[in-house]
Amino acid sequence: MEADIKIANGMVLTMDPHLTLHQKADVLIKDSKIIEIADGSSTKAKKTINAGGKLVMPGLINCHTHAAMTMFRGIADDMPLDVWWNNFIFPLEKKYLSPDFVRTGASLAALEMIRSGTTAFADMYFFEDAAAEVLKTIGIRAFLGEAVLDFPSPDSANADEALKKIEQLNEKWGKDPIIHPMIAPHAPYSCGPENLTKCRQLSEKLGLPMHIHLSETASEVAQIKLKYGLSPVEHLEKIGILCGQLIAAHCVHLSKVEMDLLKKYDVKIVHCQESNMKLASGSAPVVEMQDLGLTVGLGTDGAASNNNLDMFDEMDAAAKVHKLVRNDPTVMDAKTVLKMATTDAARVMLQENKIGSIEFGKTADIIILDLNRPHLTPLYNVYSHLVYSAGGSEVNTVIINGKLIMEDRLILTVDEQEIIDDANRIARRIQDELRA
Ligand SMILES: [Zn+2]
Repeated sequence: MEADIKIANGMVLTMDPHLTLHQKADVLIKDSKIIEIADGSSTKAKKTINAGGKLVMPGLINCHTHAAMTMFRGIADDMPLDVWWNNFIFPLEKKYLSPDFVRTGASLAALEMIRSGTTAFADMYFFEDAAAEVLKTIGIRAFLGEAVLDFPSPDSANADEALKKIEQLNEKWGKDPIIHPMIAPHAPYSCGPENLTKCRQLSEKLGLPMHIHLSETASEVAQIKLKYGLSPVEHLEKIGILCGQLIAAHCVHLSKVEMDLLKKYDVKIVHCQESNMKLASGSAPVVEMQDLGLTVGLGTDGAASNNNLDMFDEMDAAAKVHKLVRNDPTVMDAKTVLKMATTDAARVMLQENKIGSIEFGKTADIIILDLNRPHLTPLYNVYSHLVYSAGGSEVNTVIINGKLIMEDRLILTVDEQEIIDDANRIARRIQDELRA
């Protein structure tokens, strides 16, 4: 049998349940799957990538972002979340969002993520069908959550229209190997009980996960308590939204009772350390949630509140901040944090049988890093280097769903400069109008 791709002679960090690290091995890929991991494999392949002196590992998974917001990167910084959203971002979105805008913004995000080693991401935004088209062409794995709001959004007059769009998205992309539709009720403060219930019903009908913002700031928690007499998690339990298919981003302000409820229903958690820092939202009780056995993945959040989509930065920040906040350097060790960007992240996305590790039979979402750099020399501990020393620019080659997407830092599927030029053209128009 001939394989499609052979990644030869690399150091292979599998992230399998035993955390097997091969000092030298070949990884063989056929029909999108990993078919062999062995030193000195005799299996031939159509394409061989020499990974000698390089590190081969599972692609990173960004569990929460708003991809097309790359177009708003740096447009409004250094202000609280409510002011940032109500006075800047949402009015800009209403004015400028279009399928074309989302195509360009999502393409830009995909390029940035691929270049920094992210092979899969969870999105929450508008015009997700337009995003799906370009992401499919670029070849990145995307979990696309069309946002559901109580009020008119940039692409839907009301929640029912957004839910209809999700059904259409699922009809068109539901069976695609890399585009995975989701339902994204924006947050308990922007999506009321009636629409949340509709989201849950659609989730059950179509078998799709739900992606929500939950308890990101103290003020939204106070708002929910005032309106419903319950904390946000208790409120979601009461209306029947908590379940194993719910992916909750942020979860910064939680009581012990709420954490126990999230555990009881096996809700998946996404920690967005850099966004929480930048918006001063607070410090999420990640260590407590992990101690309770909750599954926690990492996310960058959108590029307008981070301001990049580099998961290496995210790992570094998550590992360090909790040590500072808890005055305890033993928490959030490098291994734990790398799992949050790979295997735990795959569990958050309900894809643990397919992605997150390099194992026989799993889908080949793989990155290859250049280790021959001053700041990665010498190499005593690969987990330590990946979390504390490495950056996205170490990523040399990217394979997604068994397909070579970037080789030697060259994007193979699209014209990168064309996308950058498009983004600059749109941004110039926004800037001219903001000045006028
Ligand atoms: Zn977000």
